[in-house]
Amino acid sequence: MNPKELFAESKTIIPGGVNSPVRAFEPYPFFVKEAKGSHIIDTEGNDYVDHCLAYGPILLGHSDDDVMADVYNQMKMGTAYGAPTENEVKLAKEVIDRVPCAEMVRFVNSGTEATMAAIRLARGFTGRNKIVKFEGSYHGAHDYVLVKSGSGAACLPDSAGIPEDTTKNTLSVPFNDVEALTKLIDEEGENIACIIVEPVMGNIGCVEPNVKYLKFLREITEENDILLIFDEVITGFRVSRGGAQEYYGVKPDLVTFAKVLGGGFPIGAYAGKKEIMSLIAPAGPVYQAGTFSGNPISIQAGLSTLNKLDYEFYGNLARKGDYLRTNISDIVEDLNLDLQVVGLASMFQIYFNPEPVVNYEIAKKSDAKRFLVYFRELLKNGVFIPPSQFECNFISGAHTEEDLDKTAQGIENALKVAWQL
Ligand SMILES: *Cc1c(COP(=O)(O)O)cnc(C)c1O
Repeated sequence: MNPKELFAESKTIIPGGVNSPVRAFEPYPFFVKEAKGSHIIDTEGNDYVDHCLAYGPILLGHSDDDVMADVYNQMKMGTAYGAPTENEVKLAKEVIDRVPCAEMVRFVNSGTEATMAAIRLARGFTGRNKIVKFEGSYHGAHDYVLVKSGSGAACLPDSAGIPEDTTKNTLSVPFNDVEALTKLIDEEGENIACIIVEPVMGNIGCVEPNVKYLKFLREITEENDILLIFDEVITGFRVSRGGAQEYYGVKPDLVTFAKVLGGGFPIGAYAGKKEIMSLIAPAGPVYQAGTFSGNPISIQAGLSTLNKLDYEFYGNLARKGDYLRTNISDIVEDLNLDLQVVGLASMFQIYFNPEPVVNYEIAKKSDAKRFLVYFRELLKNGVFIPPSQFECNFISGAHTEEDLDKTAQGIENALKVAWQL
Protein backbone atom coordinates (compact mmCIF):
# COMPACT_ATOMS: atom_id res chain seq x y z
CA MET A 1 0.00 0.00 0.00
CA ASN A 2 1.21 3.52 -0.68
CA PRO A 3 1.50 5.93 2.27
CA LYS A 4 -1.64 7.82 1.33
CA GLU A 5 -3.77 4.66 1.41
CA LEU A 6 -1.94 3.32 4.44
CA PHE A 7 -2.60 6.52 6.39
CA ALA A 8 -6.25 6.54 5.32
CA GLU A 9 -6.67 2.97 6.56
CA SER A 10 -4.62 3.58 9.67
CA LYS A 11 -6.85 6.50 10.62
CA THR A 12 -9.85 4.17 10.69
CA ILE A 13 -8.29 1.82 13.24
CA ILE A 14 -5.64 3.86 15.13
CA PRO A 15 -6.75 7.27 16.48
CA GLY A 16 -5.37 9.90 14.11
CA GLY A 17 -3.48 7.14 12.32
CA VAL A 18 -0.52 7.31 14.71
CA ASN A 19 0.54 6.06 18.12
CA SER A 20 1.88 9.42 19.30
CA PRO A 21 0.29 12.70 18.14
CA VAL A 22 3.25 14.62 16.66
CA ARG A 23 3.89 11.87 14.11
CA ALA A 24 0.77 12.80 12.13
CA PHE A 25 1.08 15.53 9.53
CA GLU A 26 -0.85 16.65 6.48
CA PRO A 27 -1.54 15.34 3.94
CA TYR A 28 0.01 12.09 5.22
CA PRO A 29 3.27 11.01 6.86
CA PHE A 30 5.72 8.65 5.21
CA PHE A 31 5.81 5.14 6.61
CA VAL A 32 9.22 3.84 7.61
CA LYS A 33 10.83 0.79 6.07
CA GLU A 34 14.17 0.96 7.87
CA ALA A 35 16.77 3.21 9.41
CA LYS A 36 20.52 2.86 9.62
CA GLY A 37 23.14 5.30 10.90
CA SER A 38 22.10 8.85 10.00
CA HIS A 39 19.52 7.79 7.40
CA ILE A 40 15.88 6.76 7.43
CA ILE A 41 14.20 5.12 4.42
CA ASP A 42 10.47 5.05 3.73
CA THR A 43 8.31 2.37 2.15
CA GLU A 44 8.60 4.12 -1.22
CA GLY A 45 12.39 3.91 -1.11
CA ASN A 46 12.99 7.61 -0.34
CA ASP A 47 16.15 8.13 1.69
CA TYR A 48 16.30 11.00 4.18
CA VAL A 49 19.10 12.41 6.33
CA ASP A 50 17.44 11.98 9.72
CA HIS A 51 17.42 14.92 12.14
CA CYS A 52 14.29 13.75 13.94
CA LEU A 53 16.15 10.73 15.32
CA ALA A 54 13.00 9.36 16.94
CA TYR A 55 12.55 12.72 18.76
CA GLY A 56 15.78 12.31 20.64
CA PRO A 57 16.70 8.74 21.61
CA ILE A 58 19.09 8.03 18.75
CA LEU A 59 22.57 9.34 19.59
CA LEU A 60 25.05 6.87 18.05
CA GLY A 61 22.93 6.60 14.90
CA HIS A 62 20.23 4.08 14.06
CA SER A 63 20.94 0.42 14.66
CA ASP A 64 24.56 0.78 15.79
CA ASP A 65 26.40 -2.47 14.97
CA ASP A 66 28.07 -2.89 18.38
CA VAL A 67 24.88 -2.19 20.31
CA MET A 68 22.86 -4.51 18.07
CA ALA A 69 25.34 -7.37 18.50
CA ASP A 70 25.11 -7.08 22.30
CA VAL A 71 21.31 -6.80 22.20
CA TYR A 72 21.03 -9.86 19.95
CA ASN A 73 23.15 -11.85 22.39
CA GLN A 74 20.95 -10.73 25.26
CA MET A 75 17.79 -11.65 23.33
CA LYS A 76 19.05 -15.22 23.03
CA MET A 77 19.36 -15.33 26.81
CA GLY A 78 15.86 -14.07 27.53
CA THR A 79 13.93 -10.84 27.24
CA ALA A 80 12.21 -10.36 30.60
CA TYR A 81 12.85 -12.04 33.94
CA GLY A 82 11.03 -10.34 36.81
CA ALA A 83 14.24 -10.77 38.79
CA PRO A 84 17.31 -8.54 39.03
CA THR A 85 20.34 -8.77 36.73
CA GLU A 86 23.97 -7.76 37.10
CA ASN A 87 23.61 -5.46 34.08
CA GLU A 88 21.10 -3.29 35.98
CA VAL A 89 23.75 -2.73 38.64
CA LYS A 90 26.33 -1.99 35.94
CA LEU A 91 24.10 0.54 34.20
CA ALA A 92 23.21 2.21 37.51
CA LYS A 93 26.94 2.55 38.21
CA GLU A 94 27.50 4.09 34.77
CA VAL A 95 24.74 6.65 35.39
CA ILE A 96 26.12 7.51 38.84
CA ASP A 97 29.64 7.82 37.43
CA ARG A 98 28.52 10.30 34.78
CA VAL A 99 25.75 12.36 36.32
CA PRO A 100 26.77 14.82 39.09
CA CYS A 101 23.56 14.59 41.19
CA ALA A 102 23.04 10.83 40.81
CA GLU A 103 23.80 8.79 43.93
CA MET A 104 21.03 6.22 43.41
CA VAL A 105 19.03 5.28 40.31
CA ARG A 106 15.68 3.61 39.64
CA PHE A 107 14.97 2.38 36.10
CA VAL A 108 11.50 2.66 34.57
CA ASN A 109 10.16 2.39 31.00
CA SER A 110 9.63 5.91 29.69
CA GLY A 111 10.18 9.57 30.39
CA THR A 112 6.54 9.94 31.34
CA GLU A 113 6.93 7.30 34.04
CA ALA A 114 10.18 8.86 35.23
CA THR A 115 8.74 12.35 35.82
CA MET A 116 5.57 10.93 37.37
CA ALA A 117 7.64 8.94 39.84
CA ALA A 118 10.09 11.76 40.56
CA ILE A 119 7.22 14.15 41.34
CA ARG A 120 5.59 11.58 43.63
CA LEU A 121 8.93 11.11 45.35
CA ALA A 122 9.36 14.87 45.80
CA ARG A 123 5.89 15.05 47.35
CA GLY A 124 6.64 12.08 49.58
CA PHE A 125 9.95 13.56 50.70
CA THR A 126 8.69 17.08 51.42
CA GLY A 127 5.14 16.27 52.54
CA ARG A 128 3.96 19.10 50.24
CA ASN A 129 1.48 18.87 47.36
CA LYS A 130 2.15 21.68 44.90
CA ILE A 131 4.60 21.50 42.05
CA VAL A 132 5.97 24.15 39.72
CA LYS A 133 6.67 23.68 36.02
CA PHE A 134 7.45 26.18 33.28
CA GLU A 135 5.08 27.34 30.56
CA GLY A 136 5.76 25.26 27.46
CA SER A 137 7.82 22.62 29.22
CA TYR A 138 6.91 19.02 28.47
CA HIS A 139 7.39 16.30 31.05
CA GLY A 140 5.42 13.49 29.42
CA ALA A 141 1.73 12.76 29.05
CA HIS A 142 0.56 12.12 32.63
CA ASP A 143 -2.02 14.16 34.55
CA TYR A 144 0.24 16.19 36.87
CA VAL A 145 2.17 17.87 34.09
CA LEU A 146 -0.26 18.39 31.19
CA VAL A 147 -0.63 22.04 32.12
CA LYS A 148 0.65 24.66 29.66
CA SER A 149 2.62 21.81 28.14
CA GLY A 150 4.93 21.76 25.14
CA SER A 151 5.61 19.14 22.41
CA GLY A 152 2.46 17.77 20.72
CA ALA A 153 0.45 19.12 23.65
CA ALA A 154 1.34 22.67 22.53
CA CYS A 155 -1.67 22.26 20.21
CA LEU A 156 -3.82 20.93 23.07
CA PRO A 157 -2.54 22.66 26.19
CA ASP A 158 -5.45 21.60 28.39
CA SER A 159 -6.21 17.97 27.72
CA ALA A 160 -9.72 16.70 28.35
CA GLY A 161 -10.04 13.97 30.93
CA ILE A 162 -7.88 15.51 33.63
CA PRO A 163 -9.71 16.45 36.83
CA GLU A 164 -9.19 20.01 38.04
CA ASP A 165 -8.45 18.49 41.41
CA THR A 166 -5.30 16.97 39.90
CA THR A 167 -3.98 20.05 38.15
CA LYS A 168 -4.89 22.62 40.80
CA ASN A 169 -1.59 21.65 42.43
CA THR A 170 0.42 22.30 39.28
CA LEU A 171 1.60 25.89 39.08
CA SER A 172 3.42 27.32 36.10
CA VAL A 173 5.58 30.35 35.43
CA PRO A 174 7.51 31.66 32.40
CA PHE A 175 11.03 30.32 31.89
CA ASN A 176 14.08 32.56 32.43
CA ASP A 177 12.00 34.99 34.52
CA VAL A 178 13.40 35.62 38.03
CA GLU A 179 10.63 37.94 39.14
CA ALA A 180 7.70 35.65 38.30
CA LEU A 181 9.17 32.73 40.22
CA THR A 182 10.25 34.85 43.19
CA LYS A 183 6.69 36.15 43.50
CA LEU A 184 5.19 32.66 43.27
CA ILE A 185 7.54 31.30 45.92
CA ASP A 186 6.84 34.26 48.22
CA GLU A 187 3.16 33.33 48.03
CA GLU A 188 3.24 29.54 47.85
CA GLY A 189 6.76 28.45 48.84
CA GLU A 190 5.71 26.46 51.91
CA ASN A 191 3.35 24.31 49.85
CA ILE A 192 5.70 23.58 46.96
CA ALA A 193 7.31 20.14 46.82
CA CYS A 194 9.40 20.63 43.71
CA ILE A 195 10.27 22.68 40.69
CA ILE A 196 10.60 20.52 37.59
CA VAL A 197 12.50 22.08 34.69
CA GLU A 198 13.90 21.09 31.33
CA PRO A 199 17.33 22.75 31.68
CA VAL A 200 17.21 23.29 27.91
CA MET A 201 13.59 23.57 26.77
CA GLY A 202 13.46 21.03 23.96
CA ASN A 203 9.71 20.78 23.50
CA ILE A 204 8.99 24.27 22.22
CA GLY A 205 11.89 24.17 19.78
CA CYS A 206 15.16 24.71 21.59
CA VAL A 207 15.40 27.37 24.31
CA GLU A 208 18.64 27.62 26.24
CA PRO A 209 18.55 28.72 29.84
CA ASN A 210 20.21 31.82 31.05
CA VAL A 211 22.94 30.12 33.15
CA LYS A 212 22.38 32.66 35.91
CA TYR A 213 18.72 31.61 35.90
CA LEU A 214 19.61 27.94 36.44
CA LYS A 215 21.84 28.99 39.35
CA PHE A 216 19.00 31.12 40.70
CA LEU A 217 16.70 28.06 40.53
CA ARG A 218 19.22 26.13 42.59
CA GLU A 219 19.47 28.88 45.20
CA ILE A 220 15.79 29.70 45.61
CA THR A 221 14.81 26.02 45.90
CA GLU A 222 17.51 25.41 48.51
CA GLU A 223 16.41 28.43 50.54
CA ASN A 224 12.80 27.23 50.55
CA ASP A 225 13.33 23.47 51.07
CA ILE A 226 11.90 22.80 47.61
CA LEU A 227 13.39 19.98 45.55
CA LEU A 228 14.86 20.89 42.17
CA ILE A 229 14.20 18.28 39.48
CA PHE A 230 16.02 18.51 36.16
CA ASP A 231 14.02 16.74 33.46
CA GLU A 232 16.95 15.60 31.34
CA VAL A 233 14.91 13.25 29.17
CA ILE A 234 16.29 15.07 26.11
CA THR A 235 19.53 16.59 27.43
CA GLY A 236 20.68 13.56 29.46
CA PHE A 237 23.64 11.81 27.80
CA ARG A 238 23.10 14.12 24.81
CA VAL A 239 24.48 17.60 25.52
CA SER A 240 27.47 16.19 27.38
CA ARG A 241 28.62 13.03 29.13
CA GLY A 242 26.93 14.12 32.39
CA GLY A 243 24.00 15.90 30.74
CA ALA A 244 22.90 19.53 31.15
CA GLN A 245 23.81 19.57 34.84
CA GLU A 246 27.42 18.94 33.86
CA TYR A 247 27.22 21.28 30.85
CA TYR A 248 25.93 24.22 32.91
CA GLY A 249 27.47 23.28 36.24
CA VAL A 250 24.22 23.28 38.26
CA LYS A 251 23.38 20.26 40.40
CA PRO A 252 19.69 19.43 41.00
CA ASP A 253 18.31 17.15 43.74
CA LEU A 254 16.67 14.72 41.33
CA VAL A 255 16.98 14.06 37.60
CA THR A 256 14.86 12.18 35.09
CA PHE A 257 16.12 10.37 32.00
CA ALA A 258 14.72 8.36 29.09
CA LYS A 259 15.44 8.79 25.34
CA VAL A 260 19.23 8.40 24.85
CA LEU A 261 19.65 6.20 27.93
CA GLY A 262 17.90 3.27 26.20
CA GLY A 263 20.19 3.24 23.16
CA GLY A 264 17.12 3.11 20.88
CA PHE A 265 15.02 0.90 23.17
CA PRO A 266 12.31 1.97 25.64
CA ILE A 267 13.64 3.04 29.02
CA GLY A 268 13.34 5.73 31.64
CA ALA A 269 15.11 6.44 34.91
CA TYR A 270 15.11 8.79 37.83
CA ALA A 271 18.08 9.42 40.03
CA GLY A 272 19.34 11.73 42.73
CA LYS A 273 20.47 12.12 46.30
CA LYS A 274 20.55 8.93 48.37
CA GLU A 275 18.64 10.64 51.17
CA ILE A 276 15.69 11.19 48.82
CA MET A 277 15.92 8.08 46.62
CA SER A 278 15.95 5.85 49.74
CA LEU A 279 12.27 6.66 50.21
CA ILE A 280 11.32 4.54 47.18
CA ALA A 281 9.68 1.16 47.82
CA PRO A 282 10.74 -1.38 48.92
CA ALA A 283 13.44 0.68 50.69
CA GLY A 284 10.86 3.29 51.77
CA PRO A 285 7.20 4.38 51.71
CA VAL A 286 6.91 5.96 48.21
CA TYR A 287 5.48 3.30 45.93
CA GLN A 288 6.60 2.83 42.34
CA ALA A 289 6.83 -0.36 40.29
CA GLY A 290 6.85 -1.79 36.76
CA THR A 291 6.72 -5.23 35.13
CA PHE A 292 9.20 -4.26 32.42
CA SER A 293 11.31 -1.91 34.56
CA GLY A 294 14.98 -2.72 34.11
CA ASN A 295 14.14 -5.11 31.30
CA PRO A 296 17.29 -6.84 30.08
CA ILE A 297 17.06 -5.68 26.45
CA SER A 298 16.85 -1.96 27.17
CA ILE A 299 19.40 -2.25 29.96
CA GLN A 300 21.86 -4.01 27.63
CA ALA A 301 21.27 -1.46 24.87
CA GLY A 302 21.80 1.38 27.35
CA LEU A 303 24.95 -0.17 28.71
CA SER A 304 26.43 -0.83 25.28
CA THR A 305 25.53 2.69 24.19
CA LEU A 306 27.01 4.45 27.21
CA ASN A 307 30.18 2.40 26.80
CA LYS A 308 30.73 4.21 23.49
CA LEU A 309 30.00 7.67 24.87
CA ASP A 310 33.19 9.28 26.16
CA TYR A 311 34.27 12.93 26.24
CA GLU A 312 35.89 12.52 22.82
CA PHE A 313 32.57 11.42 21.33
CA TYR A 314 30.80 14.47 22.75
CA GLY A 315 33.59 16.78 21.53
CA ASN A 316 33.25 15.44 17.98
CA LEU A 317 29.47 15.65 18.10
CA ALA A 318 29.53 19.25 19.34
CA ARG A 319 31.88 20.16 16.47
CA LYS A 320 29.33 18.72 14.03
CA GLY A 321 26.63 20.80 15.70
CA ASP A 322 28.73 23.97 15.46
CA TYR A 323 29.53 23.21 11.81
CA LEU A 324 25.86 22.82 10.87
CA ARG A 325 24.61 25.79 12.94
CA THR A 326 27.30 28.03 11.43
CA ASN A 327 26.34 26.94 7.93
CA ILE A 328 22.65 27.54 8.62
CA SER A 329 23.37 30.97 10.11
CA ASP A 330 25.37 31.89 6.99
CA ILE A 331 22.48 30.79 4.77
CA VAL A 332 19.93 32.75 6.80
CA GLU A 333 22.16 35.83 6.62
CA ASP A 334 22.78 35.47 2.87
CA LEU A 335 19.03 35.20 2.28
CA ASN A 336 18.53 38.28 4.43
CA LEU A 337 16.02 36.54 6.67
CA ASP A 338 15.35 37.71 10.20
CA LEU A 339 15.24 34.26 11.86
CA GLN A 340 16.77 32.73 14.97
CA VAL A 341 19.22 29.87 14.50
CA VAL A 342 19.45 28.23 17.91
CA GLY A 343 20.87 25.18 19.65
CA LEU A 344 23.84 23.70 21.44
CA ALA A 345 25.87 20.51 21.19
CA SER A 346 23.81 18.15 18.97
CA MET A 347 20.53 20.11 19.22
CA PHE A 348 19.39 22.74 16.72
CA GLN A 349 16.35 24.56 15.38
CA ILE A 350 15.42 27.63 13.34
CA TYR A 351 12.75 29.87 14.84
CA PHE A 352 10.68 31.61 12.20
CA ASN A 353 10.71 34.57 14.52
CA PRO A 354 12.51 37.92 14.41
CA GLU A 355 12.84 37.99 18.21
CA PRO A 356 15.31 35.98 20.30
CA VAL A 357 13.29 33.17 21.90
CA VAL A 358 13.77 32.94 25.67
CA ASN A 359 10.40 31.50 26.70
CA TYR A 360 7.13 29.97 25.52
CA GLU A 361 5.36 33.29 25.09
CA ILE A 362 7.89 34.41 22.49
CA ALA A 363 8.26 30.95 20.90
CA LYS A 364 4.50 30.94 20.24
CA LYS A 365 4.85 34.06 18.09
CA SER A 366 6.90 32.09 15.55
CA ASP A 367 5.41 31.53 12.11
CA ALA A 368 4.47 27.88 12.65
CA LYS A 369 2.40 27.69 9.44
CA ARG A 370 5.29 28.81 7.28
CA PHE A 371 7.47 26.35 9.16
CA LEU A 372 5.29 23.51 7.84
CA VAL A 373 5.92 24.66 4.26
CA TYR A 374 9.64 24.58 5.10
CA PHE A 375 9.25 21.12 6.65
CA ARG A 376 7.57 19.68 3.53
CA GLU A 377 10.21 21.22 1.25
CA LEU A 378 12.93 19.70 3.41
CA LEU A 379 11.36 16.26 2.91
CA LYS A 380 11.49 16.84 -0.86
CA ASN A 381 15.17 17.65 -0.41
CA GLY A 382 15.77 14.37 1.42
CA VAL A 383 15.99 15.80 4.94
CA PHE A 384 13.70 14.67 7.78
CA ILE A 385 13.05 16.89 10.79
CA PRO A 386 10.08 16.81 13.19
CA PRO A 387 7.02 18.37 11.50
CA SER A 388 6.74 21.21 14.00
CA GLN A 389 8.26 24.56 14.89
CA PHE A 390 7.95 23.43 18.51
CA GLU A 391 10.25 20.42 18.43
CA CYS A 392 14.03 20.21 18.42
CA ASN A 393 16.23 18.79 15.65
CA PHE A 394 19.10 16.46 16.47
CA ILE A 395 22.44 15.24 15.13
CA SER A 396 23.89 11.79 15.81
CA GLY A 397 27.43 10.49 15.90
CA ALA A 398 26.71 8.76 12.58
CA HIS A 399 26.11 12.01 10.67
CA THR A 400 28.94 12.71 8.23
CA GLU A 401 30.10 16.04 6.84
CA GLU A 402 28.43 14.99 3.60
CA ASP A 403 25.12 14.47 5.43
CA LEU A 404 25.39 17.86 7.12
CA ASP A 405 26.19 19.57 3.81
CA LYS A 406 23.13 17.92 2.27
CA THR A 407 21.07 19.16 5.21
CA ALA A 408 22.39 22.73 4.86
CA GLN A 409 21.68 22.71 1.11
CA GLY A 410 18.18 21.35 1.78
CA ILE A 411 17.58 24.06 4.37
CA GLU A 412 18.65 26.74 1.91
CA ASN A 413 16.27 25.40 -0.75
CA ALA A 414 13.42 24.98 1.73
CA LEU A 415 13.82 28.47 3.22
CA LYS A 416 13.71 29.95 -0.28
CA VAL A 417 10.43 28.19 -0.99
CA ALA A 418 8.90 28.96 2.42
CA TRP A 419 9.75 32.66 2.11
CA GLN A 420 9.06 32.76 -1.65
CA LEU A 421 12.52 34.05 -2.52
C1 LIG B 1 10.08 13.06 25.61
C2 LIG B 1 10.05 13.75 26.91
C3 LIG B 1 9.37 13.23 28.02
C4 LIG B 1 8.48 12.03 27.92
O1 LIG B 1 9.20 10.88 27.64
P1 LIG B 1 8.43 9.60 27.01
O2 LIG B 1 9.48 8.54 26.98
O3 LIG B 1 7.93 10.03 25.68
O4 LIG B 1 7.33 9.27 27.95
C5 LIG B 1 9.51 13.86 29.24
N1 LIG B 1 10.27 14.95 29.37
C6 LIG B 1 10.93 15.50 28.34
C7 LIG B 1 11.79 16.69 28.55
C8 LIG B 1 10.83 14.93 27.07
O5 LIG B 1 11.44 15.49 26.03
